[in-house]
Amino acid sequence: MPAPRLRSRSKRRVSVRLPGNKSVVHYKPRLGLKPKCRNCGKPLHGIVTGRKGLKLSRSARRIARPFSDLCSECMRDLLIKRAIQHAQQS
Ligand SMILES: [Zn+2]
Repeated sequence: MPAPRLRSRSKRRVSVRLPGNKSVVHYKPRLGLKPKCRNCGKPLHGIVTGRKGLKLSRSARRIARPFSDLCSECMRDLLIKRAIQHAQQS
């Protein structure tokens, strides 16, 4: 029977095979969800989630560019599309 603090589901359970071929359960903190691109749904790079981010400053956890909710390819496409629209209007 695990200790009372480990009986809740607030930590995830990972089964680990030890060198002596024994299988044990390790209790690890749950992983944060990775933010996804708004357009194509790919996971975004350069954004720190979960417990790692607690040691970093707010600006170090995110990316400093316009459309930070888009991946780099989708942002590039959008900027080119907007530039073309702008050129056609004038
Ligand atoms: Zn994208």
